[in-house]
Amino acid sequence: MAKWERRDVVVRTNATGHELTAPVFVARGRQERPLAYIQANVHGGELQGNAAILALFELLEREPLRGTVILVPRVNPVSANQQVGDYVAGVYDFLTGNNFNRGYLYLTGPSRSASAASYVDVDSFAAAHQSSSVGEIREDFRESLKAALDAIETETRVWGADSRLDFSLAIQRMAVEADLVLDLHTGDRAPRYLYVPEGAVAAARAFGFPFVLEVPARFGGALDEASFVPWQDLSDAFDRLGRNDVPRLIDGYTVELGSMNSFSLEAGQADALRIASALRHYGILDGEPEPPPSRITACSIGDYRSLNAPVGGLVDLAVQPGTPVKAGDVVVRLVDPSRCRTLPPRATDAIVEVRAPEDGVVLLFHAFSSVPKGARLFSMMTRTRTL
Ligand SMILES: [Zn+2]
Repeated sequence: MAKWERRDVVVRTNATGHELTAPVFVARGRQERPLAYIQANVHGGELQGNAAILALFELLEREPLRGTVILVPRVNPVSANQQVGDYVAGVYDFLTGNNFNRGYLYLTGPSRSASAASYVDVDSFAAAHQSSSVGEIREDFRESLKAALDAIETETRVWGADSRLDFSLAIQRMAVEADLVLDLHTGDRAPRYLYVPEGAVAAARAFGFPFVLEVPARFGGALDEASFVPWQDLSDAFDRLGRNDVPRLIDGYTVELGSMNSFSLEAGQADALRIASALRHYGILDGEPEPPPSRITACSIGDYRSLNAPVGGLVDLAVQPGTPVKAGDVVVRLVDPSRCRTLPPRATDAIVEVRAPEDGVVLLFHAFSSVPKGARLFSMMTRTRTL
């Protein structure tokens, strides 16, 4: 039986003094570690992760929990309430203009602050830990990352933290404790797929999602990168010293659970089973992961390409999200009745066919059916391989 705790974390304070909070649920098993941090809905319109977390509440009562799981549904009340009419505009912060998933801190690189205390120099750390055990390295490095967060917070006491930093710190304080970080998102119109740190093939198979995008260890501000890139940097630093027994000790994933604005408790049950399989792979739950599906299609993030609409119009899908295509196959018909200039008007004149530039899998479509020229119309996995 898991031991549960609940608290609330403040992610923003409004001009009227109201604190916007997210609920944090902690399930403790037989031992403290390994520890998973799972959050959902940092982008306000990406809802399905909340259903997965609700299903995990029950699953964690049924299954023998070895480590700890921290669950934060509705992690971003700011974006969840950025509603214009019916539409939740939840990717970019109305206040700062920033993508809510690009503002995290790079704790092993001087990306944000001039102060050397606010990041960990991995080469000095590795040199000082040349003869430490992997267990000691893991513990000391995590303490160093937390000290870097402390240093950033101390600096902000003088000049103040902007809203973006405030938000990122609240989340990263929790995520830095974890051995495994799962950030539950959705695509625009998409099947289920996974962003995986490069090389984490066995774990990707444990999740069992049909599509995988492999992320190199380069920091771009997302939570998955903020979680695993410092540990890859550390592993590389030990490599440079000739010590190759220190692998990347922490993994972070962005888990894309279907399309934005959709929400299903029933589908959440299936999503929770996949997440539980990954938790078993990482030793957080007892038992073995589920056998992977017969086919997982993967490509590097650099081969995941977006096509911008060549003209404006209404979007008629010729294939569904997640469909393999050949170069030249029609993917979308862009329809604009103002293009019918001869009379009697012919519907075919309204249509511009958009074809796949390369072989691959059409993974994701624009969320809406009316787009201007230049909008991201669809995204394709190219140069795919089977995991
Ligand atoms: Zn998202």
